[in-house]
Amino acid sequence: MESLKAEKISRSATGPIAIVGDGPVGLLTACLVARHHPVCRIGERRMTALPEKDPRLYALSATSLNLLERLGIYSELGPLRCRIFSELEIWIHRHRSRLRFSAEDIGGGLLGATVWARDLLPILESFAQAADITRLEDHPDRIERTGGGWRFKEDGRDGEFPLLIVAEGGDSRLRERQGIPLDIHDYGENAVTGRCVPEREGGDVLRQVFTPWGPLGLLPAPGGGLSFVWSMPNPIARAWQLRKPEEWALLIEEATEGFYGRIHLPEPPHAFPLRRLVARRYVAERFALVGDAAHVIHPFAGQGLNLGFLDAGVLAGRLARTVRHSGPVPWAVALEAYDRKRRGANLRFLAGLEALRLFFRVRDPLGWRDQALRVLARHRLLRRPWVAAAAGHGSRSQLRDGNP
Ligand SMILES: Cc1cc2nc3c(=O)[nH]c(=O)nc-3n(C[C@H](O)[C@H](O)[C@H](O)COP(=O)(O)OP(=O)(O)OC[C@H]3O[C@@H](n4cnc5c(N)ncnc54)[C@H](O)[C@@H]3O)c2cc1C
Repeated sequence: MESLKAEKISRSATGPIAIVGDGPVGLLTACLVARHHPVCRIGERRMTALPEKDPRLYALSATSLNLLERLGIYSELGPLRCRIFSELEIWIHRHRSRLRFSAEDIGGGLLGATVWARDLLPILESFAQAADITRLEDHPDRIERTGGGWRFKEDGRDGEFPLLIVAEGGDSRLRERQGIPLDIHDYGENAVTGRCVPEREGGDVLRQVFTPWGPLGLLPAPGGGLSFVWSMPNPIARAWQLRKPEEWALLIEEATEGFYGRIHLPEPPHAFPLRRLVARRYVAERFALVGDAAHVIHPFAGQGLNLGFLDAGVLAGRLARTVRHSGPVPWAVALEAYDRKRRGANLRFLAGLEALRLFFRVRDPLGWRDQALRVLARHRLLRRPWVAAAAGHGSRSQLRDGNP
């Protein structure tokens, strides 16, 4: 421990690692990296997320919860702000078969927990503050490359940042300036999300109904009630956007076929335009992308933030190695290893997700989709890989490998 501290201090001679982006992934990355390196968060206050305005309820996988717990964040959230779920149920609108994926299918435990963005962000922020991380309010556009890293233009301050980690989200400007090539696809859809209070709670089960208007996810919320995420084509979202909360409630009652009884929406829902974005590289010289800055995926499976948290965990693990090995592992080696591991895993995940999305979208006059659900419902062995993916188990080995 002492030698780790000494290394951390000696590395401060080269300057702290700079992290830009105050979203959940940037904050978690800062907390994890700060265990081994000095860290400086850079950003403008006006760009900082306003958590109280964020309507999202995140479904975090068991692996994400483990990662948060390495810092004690999951315990800090506690049962009042986290609602555990251990089952996932899906069905197709107006079809009889129901498919249940349960943590029991993979030997028990939990699949994950839900937490409001407005609860998660302030806790991450308070952990970042307690972790002795400097916060520099400056415009990231003023950062420029130097021989040994990065520094602010026309700046009187000494020292430079040996590494720049960018967690600015999907519209990252630093990613653009760095010239990282992107693959972008506009889904032509919006995800409409909001809070609802059902007559019947439905237990600690996450549900997904594939409706003719698009997939509708229903997440049990901490303290009771539900959050819904309904992905729908833009023309429908536009036609429905002016509807009153009580009209939305009726639409959800119809889409869920009365499963939750009468539904009440306390406020109008929010819409998020949807696109897929894939950075063709996650790293450049002394530069790394994490979270939505590197990949934006469709939210119907509720996995975007989970992938971002894994990026944070793997990158922090790789950077920790630069301290732990007797001779420092060069930054480039750590960054290349991060890029190889996370980009490959995220691409595989995305391919699976897109296949699943297509499976529920294509026309199905012969009803083989319902048949497939029935087969899965009967065979636990066939369900296992899906349950393991939902819990994030596939990526656990990446986190063990060289992690702090
Ligand atoms: C409706 C919906 C539901 C979702 N549900 C889930 C779910 O259940 N589970 C899940 O895993 N994922 C979910 N996602 C995906 C998840 O929201 C994203 O993957 C996640 O927010 C990405 O986090 P991030 O920190 O990388 O980026 P962001 O959340 O976009 O955060 C980046 C932040 O950095 C700030 N920023 C940018 N530039 C600067 C700067 N220069 N200075 C300071 N700050 C800056 C931005 O303002 C932003 O607040 C959902 C998405 C949607 C749209």
